[in-house]
Amino acid sequence: MSTLQQHIEEKHFSHRMNGLRAAVLGANDGIISVVSLLIGVMASGADKHTLMLVGLGALIAGALSMAAGEYVSVKSQADTEQADLAIERAALEEKWDEEVQELAEIYQARGVSKDTALAVARELMAHDALRAHAINELGLTDTHSPRPWQAAAFSAAAFMAGGIVPVLLALGLPNELLWVLAASSLVLLFALGALASWAGGARLMPGGMRVMVWGAFAMLATYLIGRAFGVEGGV
Ligand SMILES: [Zn+2]
Repeated sequence: MSTLQQHIEEKHFSHRMNGLRAAVLGANDGIISVVSLLIGVMASGADKHTLMLVGLGALIAGALSMAAGEYVSVKSQADTEQADLAIERAALEEKWDEEVQELAEIYQARGVSKDTALAVARELMAHDALRAHAINELGLTDTHSPRPWQAAAFSAAAFMAGGIVPVLLALGLPNELLWVLAASSLVLLFALGALASWAGGARLMPGGMRVMVWGAFAMLATYLIGRAFGVEGGV
């Protein structure tokens, strides 16, 4: 296999893994925020009805908050890219020769000789001028914008997939057994943290430990709050 081919396949691999990593991190967010809220409410001695309201509220609020954050971030990124492309499109219409020169200089700066750089620039621009400038000048790999709605839905779904687990556990367990909820959430967090590290090409143990420690910290904090402000008979 040639080096170039290898490079392309590695890139493809890492691109696919990024999706898995984002999904796992979203699920981790869902688990940590929902389980820590539920632990606090269970420790306060609340009944199952309250617990269900809190759990569903945390799921919906968290998923929408993730979606909103992701939408705004991807949308503003897309707007910036579209504005850059519009400038580039106008420049290509108004001053084609300068743009050929500009692209040729980019190739020269990368070590291509002047004549070859000019030839490359002309051929690339004859094929797809906007794309050639988008890739080489703006650093965009694609002239298609990222999709904000898709990213928002993906984030919300990942959060919900993680957060639903502690909600179901909390509804099935008596309040006295909240440590079972805590322990199983920590195990799940460790597994997902390790999976995210694996997808990112990092070592499994530190990745798993990291997210587990943060989860434990969040649960301990809300547990203490639940104990402090709970009703008579809290755990
Ligand atoms: Zn240009």
